Amino acid sequence: MRYSIFSVLREALRGQSGWTPVWREPTPKPRYEIVIVGGGGHGLATAYYLAKEHGIRDVAVIERSWLGSGSVGRNTTIVRSNYMLDGNVPFYETSLKLWEVLEREINYNAMVSQRGVLNLWHDEGQRDACLRRGTAMRLHGVDATWLEREDVRRMAPFLDFEHARFPILGGLLQPRGGTVRHDAVAWGYARAADALGVDLIQECEVTAIRRDGDRVTGVETTRGAIECGKLGLCAAGDSSRLAAMAGLRLPVETHVLQAYVTEGLKPFLDQVITFGGGHFYFSQSDKGGIVFGGAIDGYNSYARRGGLPMLTEVMREAASLCPPLSRARVLRSWGGAMDMSMDGSPIISKTPLPNLYLNAGWCIGGFKATPASGFAFAHTIARDEPHAINAPYRLDRFRDGATIDESGSGASPWLQ
Ligand SMILES: Cc1cc2nc3c(=O)[nH]c(=O)nc-3n(C[C@H](O)[C@H](O)[C@H](O)COP(=O)(O)OP(=O)(O)OC[C@H]3O[C@@H](n4cnc5c(N)ncnc54)[C@H](O)[C@@H]3O)c2cc1C
Repeated sequence: MRYSIFSVLREALRGQSGWTPVWREPTPKPRYEIVIVGGGGHGLATAYYLAKEHGIRDVAVIERSWLGSGSVGRNTTIVRSNYMLDGNVPFYETSLKLWEVLEREINYNAMVSQRGVLNLWHDEGQRDACLRRGTAMRLHGVDATWLEREDVRRMAPFLDFEHARFPILGGLLQPRGGTVRHDAVAWGYARAADALGVDLIQECEVTAIRRDGDRVTGVETTRGAIECGKLGLCAAGDSSRLAAMAGLRLPVETHVLQAYVTEGLKPFLDQVITFGGGHFYFSQSDKGGIVFGGAIDGYNSYARRGGLPMLTEVMREAASLCPPLSRARVLRSWGGAMDMSMDGSPIISKTPLPNLYLNAGWCIGGFKATPASGFAFAHTIARDEPHAINAPYRLDRFRDGATIDESGSGASPWLQ
């Protein structure tokens, strides 16, 4: 059923009796042309674009839990394309452009809110880095606005401008950046992929990858073996575990990233704001809660929970940038598993096994990439070659040194 004001009115008049399940619950078939492992944002988007852009509908997405149970439903919802390096700007700008039309395309309200992302700078070194980043963005046709201290004060008068240890000197604003309701993205892509004939298999964990020589022949799962012509891995924080099942060792390590939300407060925070004096960023949800986070926990873990030391550090930075936050009650905290690549940039690539494809290395910032990642990964799998936007994200760049080390956006996460 198409969602519209008319369908809402019609159902209101007939007792909400006509809604159908948002997607089917199919029994897995013994074989698919393409199997995608991971029912997060990237896996679901890949399946959708395989069906829509390439007409390949004999596709299954295999998810060990429920769709959207991973990081796609755990992130702090920030989208932006304020990168600096040539390899990154076109990719993330493509993603932002896809976000701008996504809701109409998949007929699903994902609450895309282009409220602006403001990065603060607090010393001359950061000023220089922001200036270079903003200039690079503008050279690529991406929106970037330079702000002096008084401009920032007009936008966010509740920040500490007078007594802070790291006084705010200015900011770099991307007005088209903002937030998107994260789990609606998973549900929207799932519904759209299902409508095109993709099988979404939940509660089905991949336990082994079958090979015949260099070729992958299928996967073993908790619901039986499934054969496939091509296999795509979209397992985010579990990427290294999945790749190991195929005999590959990835340049990826997994860390926990935590986030927090306060009680609902009256609206006061219009943008997403990041602190340049440490690892802290915050925004306000439509319910009024302040959603905030900081850096990754410093040890490797596949667990989706964090510890108190990082919470203490993040709260310290929150209070230093915005002192009133020290009086807000934190209601919830949670964690997700981050697939940290060694240069902070992702991998959307073919692998040494000819019919195995890899989508991984999203570090702390893969949510914003979801549409472009799905689009580019589908292209790579369907055509056996990368799209121009993901050509730099090949796996073997770590062997030949063509890394894309965007300091400040990946492994050293002061931007989110
Ligand atoms: C606290 C936090 C804040 C974040 N904030 C932001 C942000 O503001 N902006 C941003 O751009 N990014 C952010 N991120 C990062 C972003 O959420 C991730 O990079 C992105 O969601 C990863 O891609 P995904 O959605 O496909 O991953 P996931 O949703 O994790 O999908 C991977 C799926 O694979 C499944 N899986 C794993 N192993 C198997 C198996 N063996 N068999 C079957 N299924 C399996 C998992 O269950 C999971 O559902 C944040 C992450 C966290 C945790």
